Amino acid sequence: MRGVIFLGERKLQLAEFPDPAPGPDEVIVEIKASGMCGSDLKFYRATGGTSSLGLGTVTGRVIAGHEPCGIVSAVGAGVGERAARLGTRVMVHHYSGCGHCRHCLTGWSQMCLGGSIVYGVTGHGAHARYMKVPAHTLVPLPDELSFATGAAISCGTGTAYGALRRMNLTGGDTIAVVGQGPVGLSATQLAAAMGARVIALDVSAERLGRAKDFGADAVIDPTTDDPVGAIKALTRGLGADMSLDTSGASEGRLTAVRGTRAWGVVCFVGEGGSVTLDVSPDLLRKQLTIIGSWTFSKVVQADCARFVVDRAIAVDHLFTHRWQLAQADEAYRLFDRQTSGKGVFLME
Ligand SMILES: [Zn+2]
Ligand SMILES: [Zn+2]
Repeated sequence: MRGVIFLGERKLQLAEFPDPAPGPDEVIVEIKASGMCGSDLKFYRATGGTSSLGLGTVTGRVIAGHEPCGIVSAVGAGVGERAARLGTRVMVHHYSGCGHCRHCLTGWSQMCLGGSIVYGVTGHGAHARYMKVPAHTLVPLPDELSFATGAAISCGTGTAYGALRRMNLTGGDTIAVVGQGPVGLSATQLAAAMGARVIALDVSAERLGRAKDFGADAVIDPTTDDPVGAIKALTRGLGADMSLDTSGASEGRLTAVRGTRAWGVVCFVGEGGSVTLDVSPDLLRKQLTIIGSWTFSKVVQADCARFVVDRAIAVDHLFTHRWQLAQADEAYRLFDRQTSGKGVFLME
């Protein structure tokens, strides 16, 4: 089979790999949809080879893609009927740890005390026809959901859902969502479905237009408006009850902090970079709570899928581009511009 590998400096390659065979506790997932996530751009752009955002050492060629969704096509000898059955529609919780530490036992295998494999980064991912994973990483894909929706839930949409749950967002809240890339747009869509009033921010007019279609009540372009002033103007001078930064940019994080009212909650999900806060006015005087949220547990991934089914949320609409693997170069070049929507590779 062929798999996409990132070479760094905006280069990638479709390389030949042997079709994988399952070990005793493993399964093979025949990939039907493999999403493109914002964090892939970090690996795609990395200079001097693939950096890993503190996710462990990368050795050798690793197939990219950490939003896997497909069908179980082979099962190892030690995998029981209840763990995986041939033909089952599945997502993959894209991490594997020791399986026994406190984090693994609560479904947070990305935080494994012994270190974890991150599929698509330090272990072979889903930008290929087949993917080999331990059976315990599988999360059922409800019949109502498409493979593309399952792919989105396997990272971008699941990350937005996990953050909103961590923040305890309610229908009475106004939330500012900074950045309307795939995670931010998902947050807009999910927060609206939870009943919240959403203020969406992005520097791309195209992305702001989509945010409105996805349920944003107001949109702000920080390049033409003072974003903190604009948020306050929409909230009787108080600031938003909650803000979620998905941009990972220091200005975006500052906007989230300064655009949030006293006693409010700010959550950072954008990866990398840094931010400098003026601690007394930005934090202490406002009694602000700032939390970091890294993706989601296996349990929350399944919860997100059920939420999407129960509220009939059109997660598929996130995807503006559907690609074949052979178009990977073009797909990532377009995504790299960060003005379009989300892309997904669909396997025939
Ligand atoms: Zn562990
Ligand atoms: Zn991701």
